[in-house]
Amino acid sequence: MTISLITGITGQDGSYLAEALLERGHIVHGVVRRTSSLDRSRLAHLYANLDIYDKQLFLHYADLNDTTAIRRILAKVVPAQLFHLAGQSHVGVSFEIPEVTCDLNGMATLRILEMLREMPHPPRFLHASSSEIFGDASERPQTETTPLNPTTPYGCSKAFATQLVRTYRRHHNLFACNSISYNHESPKRGENFVTRKICRAAASIKLGLQKRLCLGNLDARRDWSDARDIVRGYMAVIDHHTADDFILSSGQMHSIRELATIAFCSMGLKWEDYVDVDEKFFRPSDPAELCGNCEKARHVLGWKSTRSFSELIEEMTCAEYDWLRMGQR
Ligand code: NAP
Repeated sequence: MTISLITGITGQDGSYLAEALLERGHIVHGVVRRTSSLDRSRLAHLYANLDIYDKQLFLHYADLNDTTAIRRILAKVVPAQLFHLAGQSHVGVSFEIPEVTCDLNGMATLRILEMLREMPHPPRFLHASSSEIFGDASERPQTETTPLNPTTPYGCSKAFATQLVRTYRRHHNLFACNSISYNHESPKRGENFVTRKICRAAASIKLGLQKRLCLGNLDARRDWSDARDIVRGYMAVIDHHTADDFILSSGQMHSIRELATIAFCSMGLKWEDYVDVDEKFFRPSDPAELCGNCEKARHVLGWKSTRSFSELIEEMTCAEYDWLRMGQR
């Protein structure tokens, strides 16, 4: 049985990945940090399953900057695969906390790579890199060979880690891969991301719990995928016979305006009647429009995204509606 270790198991991607690996029969170990509340809602259904929790799924405490704890977990678990997903994942917030962002996303990845280098049989390693490494990109769509040119603290931290993964693969012969994913969403997306904010507001307005929604640049466009498709991509990247880097994207751009149209429409509403625009929500440095060319992943791994943007946004909005109606969130 394959033993997999996930950092960031409580996050959007980590929780879907845990489900997918458990379904494949893997023994799954996850790294969780100590918090004052034990509300790990994305994993609640797995905790509650007595056939899984502490039998096929195990959790270990460590913070990303706690080298001794992570080293100890690696020695105890001896994973065959390590999915490194933990980090400060919010681009906008990275302008507020650049130092923490660079330490968690950049230096922590370096520290883990150093630990792997010392192991007699290091696990296969996947780093969750991001399209933000391309920043003010010199070409569109971007490929795995597009030069790195990040324009945000988050992008800089991911570029640093991405390049180190390449370096350790080349110079230390580690099976180390970068999945370079573009924005991906789901009903489990964090509440301070714009997709979730819009879907939630549409549902909330429909239920009479909220009156208006304030947004930034409605013309900003992103290459959005479904998080469950991206997680399938993570597994395909780490299972491939050769360690390599792969872009995981939909290859299609959609604007915030389109997103709002779909979300409000799925609640039988018109977004124009409820949305205000405020420049304070514009990004200090909005990168050029990033769009990924995932031809290599399609051709080499047989990977492609399966769900359309409108299906995804409708699902997210309906999930918000159900949760709000039942008073669960
Ligand atoms: P997420 O929902 O924000 O999850 C982040 C995870 O990292 C959580 O489990 C969080 O734990 C953990 N974490 C944060 N700081 C930590 C620390 N100091 N020590 C230990 N764990 C810590 O992010 P996601 O959307 O699943 O994304 C997964 C990875 O993919 C991230 O590295 C992200 O940057 C990258 N990525 C995401 C996207 C996207 O659109 N989603 C796109 C490109 C790349 P808590 O639950 O305790 O906070």
